[in-house]
This record gives sequence, C-alpha cells and structure tokens, in this order.
Amino acid sequence: MDALSERINSLPVSATLAMAAKARELKNNGIDVIGLSLGEPDFNTPEYIKDAAIQAVNDNYNSYSPVDGYADLKEAICTKFERDNQLNYKPSQIVVSTGAKQSIANLCMVLLDPGDEVLLPAPYWVSYSAIATLAEAKSIIIPSSIDTDFKITPEQLEAAITPKTKLIMFNSPNNPSGTIYSEDEYRALGKVLEKHPNIYILSDEIYEHINYGTPHFSIARIPELYDRTITVNGVAKAFAMTGWRIGYIGAPEWIAKACNKMQGQITSGANCIAQRATITALLEPVSRIQYMVDEFSNRKELIISLLEKIDGFKLNRPDGAFYVFPDVSYYFGKTIDGIEINNASDFALFLLEKAHVATVTGEAFGNDDCIRISYAASEDNIKEAVARIAKALS
Ligand code: GLU
Repeated sequence: MDALSERINSLPVSATLAMAAKARELKNNGIDVIGLSLGEPDFNTPEYIKDAAIQAVNDNYNSYSPVDGYADLKEAICTKFERDNQLNYKPSQIVVSTGAKQSIANLCMVLLDPGDEVLLPAPYWVSYSAIATLAEAKSIIIPSSIDTDFKITPEQLEAAITPKTKLIMFNSPNNPSGTIYSEDEYRALGKVLEKHPNIYILSDEIYEHINYGTPHFSIARIPELYDRTITVNGVAKAFAMTGWRIGYIGAPEWIAKACNKMQGQITSGANCIAQRATITALLEPVSRIQYMVDEFSNRKELIISLLEKIDGFKLNRPDGAFYVFPDVSYYFGKTIDGIEINNASDFALFLLEKAHVATVTGEAFGNDDCIRISYAASEDNIKEAVARIAKALS
C-alpha cells in the first residue's frame, strides 16, 4: 500500500516466523510438512509453573502491573542473576517486558540515534538487524564461518569498530548456530571493548540453560564492562514458555529507566499472570528443567548422526540452544529435480517443496552458506525429516 510508511515498507518480514507461517499454511492445505523452522520447545510448560499461573488468576491478578514489572518479580530476577550468573543487579536495574524481543527493541530505541553503527557478529538472530534498522541505526556485520565454529576473533572486532559504533549484540548460546563463547573467548573480546568506552554491549542469554558443554559466561561479569552491558534473558526457551511472552533485562540504572519510559508509551507492563508464573519459574531450582535439556541433547546427537550421512552437509557441533546450522554451499550451482539452487534461500525452499521439511535460510541470520534446522522436535519427526531430505537430494 502506498499509504504505508517507509519504515514498515523497508522492514523485512521475520524469516523465522514467515517460514513457520508457510509451513502452517501448507499443513492446512493437507500437505504433511515437518516444521523444523521455529525455535520453540515442543514440551508443555512444567506443571509447577502452570499451577503458579492458575493461582495468580484465582488471586485476582487482573490489574495493570508496574510498567517495569512486579517488585517481587524484579527481586526474583536479581536472585536469579546472582545465583546463575554471579551478577549483582538491584531491582532498579531490572525491566520486565513482553518477551526478550521487546527487551531488545526497547534497548535499541533508547540507545540508538540515526547513523549509529551496531555490530552484529554473524550469524546473528534475525530480528537484531531489523530492530536496529527500526531505530534508524546501521547494522555492521562481522562474518564468521563453520571453520571457526561461528565465532569472531578480537582482531575482527577491533577492525569493525569506528567512531560511530554504539552497540554490539552478542548472543551466546547462539541462535542460529548453537555456538557458545567460553569465558576466555569473551574475556579476549572484552579486552578490545575495554579500549572503546563509548560502545554498549547487549548480551542476549535467552538460551543460557540449554547448554551441553562449555559453561555459560555472562560478559557483564567483566568488571570493566559491567557499567555498559545490558544482559537480556527470558523464560521462553528454558521453561517452554514461548507464548507467555516474558523477557527481562539487567542494565545500568539509567538505561533501565529509559526502557521503562519507552515501554510505558508502547505496551505498559507485561502480562500480569505470566509475570506471576515467572517468579516461580525463576526461583525453583534449575534442576527441575534438566529433563528438557537432556532430551534436547539426545536429539542433537541424533540429528547430527543422521545429517552427517548426507553428502554435502558440513556440520557444526553446537554446545547449546536447539539448532544446527549446516553449511550446504556444496549444493550451490546445482540443479536438483528441476530446481536450481544458488544460495541458502533456494536450498531451504527446495527442502520445503521437495522434502516437505521447513527450515530457515541462513541468509536471514547473516550467513548465506548455511540453513538453520531446529531440533526442538520429536525424535520421530527428526528421523522422518532427515530421511526425506536425504531422499530429495539423492
Ligand atoms: N526466536 C525463535 C526463533 O528464532 C522464535 C521466533 C522468533 O521470534 O524469531 O525461531
């Protein structure tokens, strides 16, 4: 529509959500599509968290909450940060939002001016660049590849910094690669950032608990960076609560205040029932969700063992999250079953059309050699999906 703003017209559609919608549409038309596109646990929310929500309904939590979240939820978040991340935040440094996505959007809106540069170590989550664009900032991509386990080096970081650099967005464990930066690796990158006091650091730790190896390290633990780091987290992935929409930040107080002001004009406080349930989710021992992590770990081994039998799939071995991000560039320039494949988007569409398996093109994550496959799916679906992919490619 001509009347739509330039802002929305130039905004890309979220590739993860678009692929999920496409798979849903095909399914509604009777086509048996296996959806491995969306990063969403296929578990139910644990009973003890659901009970807390039911209790909140019965306790008549129906009014607006404070914009930045209930006081006891903010206390619970501080307890969580201390317990899991050795991070000391006061409630005045916490803002609860409608999903970690809103936490990130708030932050970009309050921190970025037109022309500011945002560093995105690639692969990066789809919405980072789109949200930065909405804030009229410029995304600067720092590339990596499967050969470096999708990690950037301190030298690359240094080279990407300019006087206009305002923000860098880290995400470990990473969506889409599952890669985790170790403490040593973060400290080495941190050394570069220490020299540039005008750069802020967003650390998206939403996959923190979905970890099979490298211990989680929060970059805000580096004392020299604490005062300019915004730690983002939420309950969606670890507690199978994607639809409950609760994310939060721990940040310098002046940034939290600004995010509170921004949110107050856009959505007000997050859903009150979900906030009450989040208190229980965060304060109960993390061991209560280990059964899901164990299951994801089994599925990771399964999908890797199956995919590595297919010619042309170069695989990474992720330590976290629930994605594999194989390099499929072997297929570029080939025509299979009448479809010409020249890039990752062609490849993902080929898989959808010929194998009826939904994945996401790596292009959406800033890497055009790979596709993202979510293994947050049942073992049967994983087996069937990989069998279909192998058949379509043979
Ligand atoms: N973060 C998930 C994903 O990447 C959910 C979809 C989204 O919000 O992008 O698949």
